[in-house]
Formats: sequence, C-alpha cells, structure tokens
Amino acid sequence: MKENILDYLPSDLEALKKVVKACHVCEISQSRQHAVFGEGPDNARLMIIAEAPGAKEDELGRPFVGRSGELLTKMIENAIAIKRESVYISNIIKCRPPNNRNPNSDEAAACLPFLEKQIEIIKPEIILCLGSVSFHYLSDSALSISKARGRVFDFRGIKLVPSFHPSYLLRNPSAKKEAYFDMLLIKALLAQT
Ligand code: URA
Repeated sequence: MKENILDYLPSDLEALKKVVKACHVCEISQSRQHAVFGEGPDNARLMIIAEAPGAKEDELGRPFVGRSGELLTKMIENAIAIKRESVYISNIIKCRPPNNRNPNSDEAAACLPFLEKQIEIIKPEIILCLGSVSFHYLSDSALSISKARGRVFDFRGIKLVPSFHPSYLLRNPSAKKEAYFDMLLIKALLAQT
C-alpha cells in the first residue's frame, strides 16, 4: 500500500492549523514570527493561493494584510463582486522566506501537503493562483503567467485560473487591466455553477 502523507494530517482546518503553527520541518520556520496558515470559510467556493507571507503577514499571522493585500481585497470586492470574507486565502509556503526570497523546492515539498490538505477539506470550485510560484507548484504547465493567464487549467478536478500576483501589479500597474479580466473570468465561472 502506498503511503500518503495527507492521510496522516487532520481533516479539519482548526486541527490542521495547530499542526502548521507547530511545524519546524524546514529552515525557514526558524526565522518566522508567525506561520500564516490561511483564512476564510471552510466551504469557500473560491480559494486564492499565492506564494508565501511577506513581512506584515509574518508579523500579524494573517495572509495578505500588507499593501498587496489592500489591492487583492479591491480585486475580489470590486471586480469579482464578492466579499473577501467569503474567499479562502492561503499560500504555497506558510512561513516567510528570509528577505522574501522565492521558496526553494525542498521548502515547497515540505509545506505543500498542508495546502493539499486545505484544498481537500475546502473542496473549492475554483482556485485562483496568484503569481508564477503558485501556478507552477499547482499545475504541470511550464507557461509564464503572462502566457497562461486568461485560460482555465485543472487541479485534481478543480478549475485553476492563473493571474498576476498583486505585488507584481503594484510594480507594473499597466498589467492591472489583464488582471481585471482574469477576475471577470472568475466571476463568470462562479456564475456558471
Ligand atoms: N504575498 C503573498 O504571496 N502572500 C501573502 O500572504 C502576502 C503577500
């Protein structure tokens, strides 16, 4: 029988959160202030998955509470026209990598089962991947975000929509128009089901 780590993780979000908060499997757990588990309803139809907590998220223990979080909230509430509180928001990596560097593959491999379990519990209809780190860990596509955006991919039977990371949009405001269309795609997909 093949061992699957997901079978050994708790099947409710509060218990899983405790496991994540106590996790010291990889190096970056040493330098964190808070592990950022993610937040939102456990029956969310839309799950947003980004890369890893930044400085403000590490300080407060919540996802997207800094400047990119302000923009993300506007994208959700103005373009998709749903409340941020109705969406489950999480990251590939639960602890802040030092100096916000990209997580390496060992760190991602150590942390991904937590996210996979979150997805298994929440069973969203749609996953919005923000940025290339999220998209590349959750799809087998080698496309860049700018080539992949605008299309719908699949993650274990769940519709996966890639778009730009809000921190990229803050640096490149001209890409906001395309991100807006991606949010409209999500709105249309939510209306279909
Ligand atoms: N950037 C991310 O990728 N995730 C957060 O939670 C905040 C900023």
